[in-house]
Amino acid sequence: MSHRRSLRFSKTTCPICGSKEVARDDNKGDLLCTNCGHIIVRTETRAVGKFDIAQHLKRSGKMNFAGLQQVTGASEDKLFGVIRNMQDMGLLSEIQGQYSLTKKGQRWYRQRLGQEWGY
Ligand SMILES: [Zn+2]
Repeated sequence: MSHRRSLRFSKTTCPICGSKEVARDDNKGDLLCTNCGHIIVRTETRAVGKFDIAQHLKRSGKMNFAGLQQVTGASEDKLFGVIRNMQDMGLLSEIQGQYSLTKKGQRWYRQRLGQEWGY
């Protein structure tokens, strides 16, 4: 399976080398510096929250990217950003395209749930 990458130049300046030749990777929504290769992960991902994703995974057990996109209504790049963030935090694991909560993720979810309910 090969992904065709479509790159489009963005207005961002690379924080590493200062180059203005930063392209947007439409598959992932990340920005890639074409000069030094640094990947700038976009951080403005507010439309879908980690808690939302955790909640859906808790209910369903495992879900693929398309399924999560459907239930959260998030755009692909935003959802990708949040999922990546959760993976970095160790809350999510992905096996063959199926996302699920790790033990840490389940603890995190219960803590957040407790906060929501005020105990
Ligand atoms: Zn650079």
